[in-house]
Amino acid sequence: MRVGMVSEHASPLAALGGVDAGGQNVHVAALAGALAERGHDVVVYTRRDSPDLPERVLLDDGVTVEHLDAGPPRPVPKDALLPHVPQLTADLDRRLRDFLPEVVHAHFWMSGLAAVEAASRLSVPVVQTFHALGSVKRRLQGASDTSPARRLRLEGEVAQRVERILASCSDEVHELVRMGARRERIDVVPSGVDRTRFRPEGPVASRSAMHRLVVIGRLVPRKGVDDAIRALRWLPDTELVVVGGPDAAALAADPEARRLRKLAEATQVGDRVRFHGRVAHTDLPALIRSADVVVCLPWYEPFGIVPLEAMACGVPVVGSAVGGLLDTVVPGVTGVLLPPHQPKAAARAIRSLLDNDSRRRRYGRAGSDRSNLYSWDRIAELTELSYQRAVTAADRDSLAMTETAR
Ligand code: UDP
Repeated sequence: MRVGMVSEHASPLAALGGVDAGGQNVHVAALAGALAERGHDVVVYTRRDSPDLPERVLLDDGVTVEHLDAGPPRPVPKDALLPHVPQLTADLDRRLRDFLPEVVHAHFWMSGLAAVEAASRLSVPVVQTFHALGSVKRRLQGASDTSPARRLRLEGEVAQRVERILASCSDEVHELVRMGARRERIDVVPSGVDRTRFRPEGPVASRSAMHRLVVIGRLVPRKGVDDAIRALRWLPDTELVVVGGPDAAALAADPEARRLRKLAEATQVGDRVRFHGRVAHTDLPALIRSADVVVCLPWYEPFGIVPLEAMACGVPVVGSAVGGLLDTVVPGVTGVLLPPHQPKAAARAIRSLLDNDSRRRRYGRAGSDRSNLYSWDRIAELTELSYQRAVTAADRDSLAMTETAR
């Protein structure tokens, strides 16, 4: 199949860990690669955020990345990109006419807006993965949500106009239906994990004699790093390694890193919290393997690739019982899930694992087994099925329209 993927702010070529570069970038890169591996012809369209980027890049895995003009060719926060969607749509329209995909897969709501406009002119069905929903963000972030005011309405329109929606987890299905999406058009297709890299065997980063907890993610408040830091109060023999944010050299100037450092000092655990800054994706498995427990305490989580990466490396997860973690982490088997915002309960759960080597090893083995369900090849297979459903439904609709016209 010829597949056009649109991922306007999240390029598969971006460095990870920054405020707007995380799971979606990993997902798009890995899914596109796995689809190409299965014989599909995949072009990923993403926004040009530097004047030096070539129009077209051919990746080793056979995927083509094309840079579209949408706003100035420099980094722009994703919440400021909406005014540039018409330009994105115009450029996408031109490129799709050239490539003539059989299906367009849009990632995030603004890509969806551009995709439904451009693809409908060519009668190509659109499949949508939202990755995050404005309604959830508004509910849980309230006044600190910087999304454009029109996001909720426009997201609802995208949900109505696309042929199929790929929900990242079961929990998202309910949210989508509340937004007006039709249940029969939704498939649950999660993210995956690169099992060739994230596995229990392999190099292990050096560590001190203390117990080690690792948190990994974009440095944004909703990831709950605050609560991981607070939990350290009850875990005196333990260090916390925080991965994510800008490069280590730029951490001192990063407002969120500074806020977290201050919190660690105020909590009197500053000497046991180490901020690594961003770590290259390829170097992460060694760091994860050096952890006793990977801690993920988000307020909400549309999917959460990090818990899966931890399980794949054979490390138990202590996480929030929200979103994708409810599907991936099996409480009492691969980790512990608890309500968000409860650092003391998290500390208790972590302690119970730190004090019990055999339980930790058992959880690790079970997590690694479970992560096989999420290999990118399997996720690509599920995605392919949804593409086929979308194409069949679109063919049926156009046939019905032709019949009516007669
Ligand atoms: N990541 C990374 N280096 C970093 C920080 C994050 O490679 O310094 C990767 C991480 O391994 C994971 C992704 O970024 O694959 C984050 O995805 P997740 O779904 O956990 O969070 P999101 O960014 O979608 O909120």
